[in-house]
Amino acid sequence: MMDDLRELYQEVIFDHNRNPRNFYAMENADRQIDGFNPLCGDKLTVYLKLDGDKIAEASFQGEGCAISTASASLMTDMVKGLTEAEAHTLFEQFHKIAMGEDDSQLDQIGKLAVLAGVKEYPARVKCATLPWHTLEAALAGNKEAVTTE
Ligand code: ZN
Repeated sequence: MMDDLRELYQEVIFDHNRNPRNFYAMENADRQIDGFNPLCGDKLTVYLKLDGDKIAEASFQGEGCAISTASASLMTDMVKGLTEAEAHTLFEQFHKIAMGEDDSQLDQIGKLAVLAGVKEYPARVKCATLPWHTLEAALAGNKEAVTTE
């Protein structure tokens, strides 16, 4: 059972890495910010269009490992239509799971559950959370690039 689940998760990650969703430079983005993970070499730019306190559109571009690319692809898919507060809550739930702190909310994070396995690989946690740290900085209106170090 666990092996089947792991295989399914891996397939979703491979799929999002091969065909990342929302992978484009957004024109007239309200927010645009770069994120780096020097440990692995992941770099990305997150773009947002906002409608009041809602995320109307989210996209990204960049180069990174399969985990960071899949995470950014899933993230841009999932935060579309969420308010800033809802996106923040989703990241907090995901972050606790990825850090191996608390996975009681695993059923609250939807497709992000496929990345829960990073908790067994501390070096990959930064790959999985980089897009989210970058999103949070964009929502906060920061201009400076985000780095995980
Ligand atoms: Zn990485």
